[in-house]
Amino acid sequence: MVEGTEVPVVPGRTAWDGNRPPSAALIGDCVHCGFCLPACPTYSLWQEEMDSPRGRIQLMELGYQTPALSSEMVSHFDSCLGCMACVTACPSGVRYDLLLQETKAQIERNFKRRLSDRVFRSLIFALFPHPGRLRALVPLLVMQRRLHLAGLVPRRFRRLHAMAALSPPVRISAAWRTLAAVTPASGPRRGTVAILQGCVQRVFFAGVNQATIDVLAAEGYEVHAPGAPRCCGSLQQHTGYEEDARACARETVAAFDRYDTVVVNAAGCGSGMKEYGHLIGDGAFAARVKDVHEFLAGIEPRAVRHPLPMRAVYHDACHLAHAQGIREQPRALLAGIPGLELLSPAEADMCCGSAGVYNLLEPKAAGELGRRKAANLLATGADAVISANPGCSIQVSRYMYPPLPVHHPIELLARSVRGERV
Ligand code: SF4
Ligand code: SF4
Repeated sequence: MVEGTEVPVVPGRTAWDGNRPPSAALIGDCVHCGFCLPACPTYSLWQEEMDSPRGRIQLMELGYQTPALSSEMVSHFDSCLGCMACVTACPSGVRYDLLLQETKAQIERNFKRRLSDRVFRSLIFALFPHPGRLRALVPLLVMQRRLHLAGLVPRRFRRLHAMAALSPPVRISAAWRTLAAVTPASGPRRGTVAILQGCVQRVFFAGVNQATIDVLAAEGYEVHAPGAPRCCGSLQQHTGYEEDARACARETVAAFDRYDTVVVNAAGCGSGMKEYGHLIGDGAFAARVKDVHEFLAGIEPRAVRHPLPMRAVYHDACHLAHAQGIREQPRALLAGIPGLELLSPAEADMCCGSAGVYNLLEPKAAGELGRRKAANLLATGADAVISANPGCSIQVSRYMYPPLPVHHPIELLARSVRGERV
């Protein structure tokens, strides 16, 4: 019997191994009411029970009664975005987040994927969590955007096509920008915080990291920006690469060991780091992790906000809204900027299809969700989109036509504090 389950895991008779299978106790919390179904993006796309949270929980149960995972079972888990809209919607408090993490790790250990799938996944994880390798690729990305080479990748190679089409508009100088290791507080010092630079964030969205430092310093904090860790492990954790995720998590804990507060400005990273209690048993570290909006909303503002006249629509990143329950704090910070009119799109709780590396692995479903999200954002008549997650920013930028500028909330706050215009 495995801890946390009432069902024995019998090698050769169950699809799950004994290393943290999806907890039978948590599976048993689902009363099959179906309230989560309308919230689920994949159920809304295909109306298939097995592509709903309830259906996937039944498949987890089936894993205890079947000797091996079938391709079909795995396909229903692969198609799950991990957006956690079902966790928000569930009146019974079912911990689908934990169930999915356990299931994804079991799949990566116990299911042999097609060779092409394995190669593509290896390519993703050999690149994205490595800022040095991403930087080396930037000149190529710049060239491929200038020459519109993404259009030359045949559409039948869906994943490669998606990878090329989703390359962000980064400048070489920005990708190589380094942050000051220590930035002093402006005015009397209220405390010291450290920020996570991230992997994708530090290369493709270096301006967001600088804006985070500027706002925190303007609010009276000394800001430390250590180069390590290269990656917090959230991408790997949310895709089932548990051992890699644990290694990154341990590096992260070591890098920030001496800080009481670690501020994170990427929704996916923040949600992953808050799950370190489950991943590596370090709940004390997880409690020191603060999303930047959460941190700023919890202090009395000191820096003067200058007007920033614009109409902008706020996009809720799933890993902020559903995974961390952070909805009001970014809105409150943005409402504090004079002249900024904040709009909300229809289907605000619905995932944009980015979901970590989902838009690379499942480009068809991600494309449908991306177009739907873009249409809802554009329908507000806003001049700009606000998004607090790098993956969402890239995804919505790809599908908006006409294109709108996409800003992180902290970039706008920094401009307001500095007295700049957009
Ligand atoms: S995580 Fe998102 S896609 Fe997956 S079952 Fe829940 S609502 Fe559906
Ligand atoms: S996950 Fe929650 S909302 Fe969905 S069917 Fe189960 S109990 Fe109902």
